[in-house]
Amino acid sequence: MDLANLKKEYTNGEVTVVWQSSKCSHSANCVKNLSKVFKPKEQPWVQMENASSKEIMETVSKCPSGALSIKS
Ligand code: SF4
Repeated sequence: MDLANLKKEYTNGEVTVVWQSSKCSHSANCVKNLSKVFKPKEQPWVQMENASSKEIMETVSKCPSGALSIKS
């Protein structure tokens, strides 16, 4: 597996967040915006159960690189 090009999905049953490692610029915007969900030092690093779908979608929309997206 190519670790530099991972594509991972995280869901709370309502919305699914897709994260593409190759696009992530590690700006940490997501961590600053919603630290209860985006925890880069933990496994899984996206913890969907810790916020509402609305909060998660707002933070995903602020990802500058497009590494985070909502699966439609
Ligand atoms: S905001 Fe986007 S680019 Fe920045 S660390 Fe999070 S996923 Fe990566």
